[in-house]
Amino acid sequence: MDREVRAEILTIGTELLLGQTIDTNAAYIGEQLAAAGIEVYWKSTVGDHDARIREALRVALSRSEVVITTGGLGPTEDDLTCRAIAAELDRPLILDQAVLESIRRRFTERAVAMSPNNERQAMIPEAAAVLPNPHGTAPGFVIRLGNGRMVAAVPGVPSEMRPMLNEQVIPRVCEAFGVKTRIRSRILKACGITESALDETISDLVRLSRNPTIGVLAYPGEIHIRLTVKTEREAEGDRLLDDLEHTIRKRLSQFLFGRDEERLEEVVGRLFLDAKATVAVAESCTGGLVCHRLTNLPGSSAYFVRGEVVYSNAAKERLLGVPHELIAEHGAVSRPVALAMAAGMRQTAGTDLALGITGIAGPGGGTTTKPVGLTYIALASDDGVTCREYRFLADRDTNKLLASQRALDILRRHLLSHQHAGQN
Ligand code: ATP
Ligand code: MG
Repeated sequence: MDREVRAEILTIGTELLLGQTIDTNAAYIGEQLAAAGIEVYWKSTVGDHDARIREALRVALSRSEVVITTGGLGPTEDDLTCRAIAAELDRPLILDQAVLESIRRRFTERAVAMSPNNERQAMIPEAAAVLPNPHGTAPGFVIRLGNGRMVAAVPGVPSEMRPMLNEQVIPRVCEAFGVKTRIRSRILKACGITESALDETISDLVRLSRNPTIGVLAYPGEIHIRLTVKTEREAEGDRLLDDLEHTIRKRLSQFLFGRDEERLEEVVGRLFLDAKATVAVAESCTGGLVCHRLTNLPGSSAYFVRGEVVYSNAAKERLLGVPHELIAEHGAVSRPVALAMAAGMRQTAGTDLALGITGIAGPGGGTTTKPVGLTYIALASDDGVTCREYRFLADRDTNKLLASQRALDILRRHLLSHQHAGQN
């Protein structure tokens, strides 16, 4: 049985309070501690100010077994963390010869003169365990207090902080507190379904499932379902995640497009490779975004043949053969024009599939009958040409992203349905 251990994150730096630096360290530390089975109960941020750092540390130690600080370990005048921690814990700062040597060596190796303030970084609170910093000069340290508490200080520079946290701090915390449980997450990604419809489909699972727990997060054009499991044995965790994923898949089937880091364009790219099919894309309002995303996968030349950004009416007519009268009669943002764009693109490129995308990205250009966000996406294939109408309600950038997301999803679904047809 694990001992209960409450961890707290204290990020230090005035730039974090001013919003000049986003506190990615706290997010990273929170994620890594959770993965190691250490619960984070609090996190706070304080500026480069001695008394306030001490106060924040005092408060943190009054309620948490483990306090992890980042930032302010450097050599400059505003780097106060080490001094403040030493003062608050009533431990003198002592020059650590080994640390001094390694800092000296770092400077000699780089043939740079060492300034006296770098020596300050070798001043470590008494009886602290030094955490070497192979990626920078400021070492971190861990202090174990008589009352079973622990304070770890790591640098603020993310590339120095991350390895130190993972390789040195977390193992010490797990060892000191006998932490054996592991927390792991899996993300299932859905698109083509609204958040409320998705919620209706799995709300009972979200409410009742305790291990794994389920969290739903909506992003532009996709929804992430995060399953989080807490177990002592990895295999058991995997099994619990698999079982729940299976249940969710049965309900959301084709709305789920990927897992964890997978992006929609990667999934679509793989489907194209499997199907040995080719595609061309004619884009108006998305300005090439769909082509960009389709070519994000290495090896995309196997399926992506060409794209046209046909922004003007003349370009639509000249490059895709969209009839002048069609645009005159229905307007460039219309179903008939999207259909003609897709058909024209497929014909000129000679591909298996082609998309035609036309819409009003905004913020201007909308009318009552054709509001901002109105978008038509047509797909041409051996089955004929079909078109869907969308009304996106976001800003210009997001409308473009949403249109590209829908376009990729149309390709995905087409390829999936034909995959099944092929197998039957
Ligand atoms: P150094 O030896 O470089 O002085 P340090 O431990 O003193 O390291 P800081 O001076 O506080 O760290 O910050 C160094 C750099 O790391 C700055 O660019 C800062 O913006 C960035 N940084 C500090 N804290 C964070 C944080 N919580 N999240 C993301 N970046 C951070
Ligand atoms: Mg600094």
